Amino acid sequence: MNTLFTNVSIFDGTGTAEFLGEVLVHGNRIAAVTRDGAPPLSRDAVRVIDGKGALLMPGLVEPHAHLTWPTSVERFVPGMSLPPEDLTLNTARNARVLLDHGYTSAYSAGALSKSLEVFLKAHIDSGSLSGPRLVPSSLEREPPSDSAYLDAGKADAHDRGPEAVRAFVRECGELGAKSVKFLLSGESALKPGASHELLYTEEEVRGAGEQSVESDVWLTGHAHAAAAVKMALRNRFRVLYHCTYADAEAIEMLAARKDQVFVAPTIGIAQAALDAKPPPHVDMSQMKADAQTVLERQSTLVPQLRKLGVRIMPGGDYGFPFNPTGRNARDLELFVRYFDYTPAEVLVAATKLGGEIMGMGNELGQIKPGFLADLLLVTGNPLEHIAVLQNTSNLAAIMKDGKFHKPPA
Ligand SMILES: [Zn+2]
Repeated sequence: MNTLFTNVSIFDGTGTAEFLGEVLVHGNRIAAVTRDGAPPLSRDAVRVIDGKGALLMPGLVEPHAHLTWPTSVERFVPGMSLPPEDLTLNTARNARVLLDHGYTSAYSAGALSKSLEVFLKAHIDSGSLSGPRLVPSSLEREPPSDSAYLDAGKADAHDRGPEAVRAFVRECGELGAKSVKFLLSGESALKPGASHELLYTEEEVRGAGEQSVESDVWLTGHAHAAAAVKMALRNRFRVLYHCTYADAEAIEMLAARKDQVFVAPTIGIAQAALDAKPPPHVDMSQMKADAQTVLERQSTLVPQLRKLGVRIMPGGDYGFPFNPTGRNARDLELFVRYFDYTPAEVLVAATKLGGEIMGMGNELGQIKPGFLADLLLVTGNPLEHIAVLQNTSNLAAIMKDGKFHKPPA
């Protein structure tokens, strides 16, 4: 079925001001985009959707997804572990929840299963399960943790040394994972001081970098410490999370590789930790103190990196009990609040840069002829009030790959 959106305000993802017009979808791609004043597009054999002035924008992209992490806005799971059968079904459900919230693509930042995301992607791509386009990952290696409650789980205890690390990357690739995740430094939210500790040697990370080329996978790193950021940049890492303690040299290196890397500061988890009111048996005091530090540092770092042209994306680390999958769009508001983004600027980051992080920048993340038809019809004008994207009732329609996941009423 072909679809014509008429009477819509079009935000095309490039940062150009929105304009009234029409968008024609043929099959799974955008066939034509016109501005008001141009002759109307043909109505032959198309379903016409009157947007009544609502905003039509590209679907959102989550750059740091953890679909296997248990908690969503639909289901609270205390802690991080589920029996394997429940984990499987719950992960499929999380994929649908994310799509329900306007995220038509997700780049995985690691999973609690070796190959669950690979199978999930196959089911989604075949149309049998609802979910975003997915760059799947395998197990990530977790940092040492003092908190059993929030420990995301144990990866294979792969041995130390470059050969063992190479074998890990090779195996992930053979299983079908595209994003291979390393915890390059620890996580102070879980263990005091760990964000400054390196978990791998330079030789090991070099082994990962070399093997990633052979296995055709993308390296993805959790890196708070400046030394972890630098190690990643020396060794072909493509996606970096946090970068909290990046020093002048790390910032310079990020700028030098701005066309090869993406950074997701992952600020939502810090805000969520600060906002959380945990039950008495859960001690979040360390996590809250760390979140305050992270927020302060990121508020300086992110605007600095953006000025240097580093590709920075909102989103990340949803799936914890206090930061459920489905709330991902809150990151957009936090970018406006803390990092001096305008709503339009953060939407470019979540759409156009999103297409790029998915490795599909020439066909995803913008409203342009030839691009894939991943589209949101949004009421309440997110270009004025970015928070409207956090409420699914403002998502009047969600289209992925030319098909409505949520048809307009
Ligand atoms: Zn993460």
